[in-house]
Amino acid sequence: MKEWVVTLEDEAATVKLGHSVAMATNNQGLIIYLFGDLGAGKTTFSRGFLQALGHQGHVKSPTYTLVEPYMLTPRPVYHFNLYRLASAEELEFMGIRDYFAQDPLCLIEWPSQGEGFIPNADLELHLSYENEGRKAHFIALSQRGNAVLSRIQSA
Ligand code: ADP
Ligand code: MG
Repeated sequence: MKEWVVTLEDEAATVKLGHSVAMATNNQGLIIYLFGDLGAGKTTFSRGFLQALGHQGHVKSPTYTLVEPYMLTPRPVYHFNLYRLASAEELEFMGIRDYFAQDPLCLIEWPSQGEGFIPNADLELHLSYENEGRKAHFIALSQRGNAVLSRIQSA
């Protein structure tokens, strides 16, 4: 499976990367795990992703609600932040299965918190601090994830 590393000089580059990945999903569902310390740019990336798919306005990380649904066309995008997840029962309680039943686009911050209860990732994005900017390291884990990386690289 493919991997890809790219340097993000500033916030605008992180937003643009989110845009590129969204465009490369080609109207298919995709599960993206977002890794990185606080402030690494997970939510910034998500903002670019959501805006590229037509969301207008604010994107805030759903720290307390765990998930923020965006009912976009042609498919919904669910933005998860599992940082504060205390137990797997919370996921059951919110009806986690229903979210994943419709082949959605999912952006999942702090996915290790939900290990065993959320679907496997098609694509992992590891964000880290690099000088004044950030580094993005993608790892594809399925054919879909691989296809997305191929499309970005040839774009
Ligand atoms: P996380 O969701 O990972 O905690 P956020 O996206 O909420 O992080 O915050 C990232 C912070 O870093 C924001 O203040 C944003 O402006 C900034 N930022 C995002 N991308 C970059 C970048 N490539 N270079 C420098 N600063 C960035
Ligand atoms: Mg965040």
